Amino acid sequence: MNSIYQNDFKNQKVLIRVDFNVPLSNEKVVTDNSRIVAAKKTIDKILKDGGTPILMSHLGRPKGNDPEFSLTHIVKDIERVLGVKVKFTNEVLGEKTTTVVKKSGPGEIVLLENLRFCPEEKNGDLKFAEELSKLGDSYVNDAFGTAHRAHASTSIIASFFPKNKFAGELLLKEVESIHKVMNTGKKPVLGILGGAKVSSKITIINNIMDKVDKLIIGGGMAFTFIKAQGGQIGDSICEEDKTSLALSILEKAKEKKVEIYLPNDVVCANQFSNEAKTQICPINNIPSGWQGMDAGPSSLSNFKEAIMSSKTILWNGPVGVFEMENFSKGTIELGEYISKSTKLGAFSLVGGGDSVAAVKQFNLQDKVSYVSTGGGAMLESLEGKTLPGIKALTQ
Ligand code: AMP
Repeated sequence: MNSIYQNDFKNQKVLIRVDFNVPLSNEKVVTDNSRIVAAKKTIDKILKDGGTPILMSHLGRPKGNDPEFSLTHIVKDIERVLGVKVKFTNEVLGEKTTTVVKKSGPGEIVLLENLRFCPEEKNGDLKFAEELSKLGDSYVNDAFGTAHRAHASTSIIASFFPKNKFAGELLLKEVESIHKVMNTGKKPVLGILGGAKVSSKITIINNIMDKVDKLIIGGGMAFTFIKAQGGQIGDSICEEDKTSLALSILEKAKEKKVEIYLPNDVVCANQFSNEAKTQICPINNIPSGWQGMDAGPSSLSNFKEAIMSSKTILWNGPVGVFEMENFSKGTIELGEYISKSTKLGAFSLVGGGDSVAAVKQFNLQDKVSYVSTGGGAMLESLEGKTLPGIKALTQ
């Protein structure tokens, strides 16, 4: 896979697939611009070379041409982040786009309308991809967040640039971080999996079992493992139909000599509420009417030992109901141990949905080595899948 740093884009029109799928308030104000900020390095490199970035992205899940989802809402934010005026075309393909692109030169930026206004985008339509490709001399994919989709602009289009397709800085960083954790990370390698359900993480567990030396299984999914081993888990969340699966995972870990860390105590609540009464219980002896909501002190001390003695750390999923303040301590402490271990030289990758939200909420994003921007794309990478967007750049 070639990266943008292997090319000089001078005098080129460069089609860049970015992921500007940012959250908007009801008033259509961008509430978090991190995805725009994340694309800045790639866009700056093209500008610095003397190229013309033609930006294309999707926003939300519009059904057809719906002004609610127009990229017009984010033009000012893009300009603020990039410090350059943006020429917005108001359409994806058409006369206006063709003219604006033709008339734009080095140092100028063009932004197309929401790609998903055209059903051909999600359908991976070849003709549509070809028409898009005519707008640029080269193609850059920097949209890791949609790299797991075989859409026209994320994957199909690449075939029209057999020699001129490149990975942007963000996509490159994401791929490198995953590779580091899964293949070339210094040992011991530790995986931390939390979250609600075993069923949603089973493919990841199976895949990383071959890569890690130690595995922390925390959060709601730990209870299925404890129940499977005959523990009393009270009213804690549990997937009854996954208990034999849990036992087979433990068996596989034994075979592969992966050290498993399950919580041994938990903060229990008498209802699923921040205002609930609480007590600390052994995880295998939770009274009926009570449910485990967060990792307890003894569990956290074991987790700390595993984290501090590891050189490569992958974290996916919270170890408690961190959205409720009274049950966020375990996830916060876990994040802090990972930060400390990182400071001492470990490489740490936080990826996939809620653990990323937790890291941001608790201001730890600058204290870990890498925080992934791609939810689904990161999860599929951890499952061992080759993402269509990445594959298209390498073929
Ligand atoms: P996931 O999307 O599978 O990573 O799950 C994340 C969700 O798991 C978060 O919303 C947490 O509140 C939830 N969670 C973590 N620990 C528990 C628990 N002990 N009981 C119920 N939900 C939990």
